[in-house]
Amino acid sequence: MKVACPTCKRETEWSADAPYRPFCSERCRLIDLGAWLSEEHAIPGEELPREIDEEANSPPHRTR
Ligand SMILES: [Zn+2]
Repeated sequence: MKVACPTCKRETEWSADAPYRPFCSERCRLIDLGAWLSEEHAIPGEELPREIDEEANSPPHRTR
C-alpha cells in the first residue's frame, strides 16, 4: 500500500516496518511535527485542563 507523505507529498510505502508512516522519513515527520507545534495546536504545558476549573466552580449536585 502506498500513501502520499503529508510533508513532501511523495509516495511512500505504508508498511508495518515503516517507523515514520505516514511520512516517508524521519525528516518529514519532524517537519510536520514542527509545523503543527508552531501553529499552536499544542496545549501550553502550564495551562491546566479546563475540567478542573469547571468541577470546582459548579455546585456539587448530581442527579444520582
Ligand atoms: Zn516526505
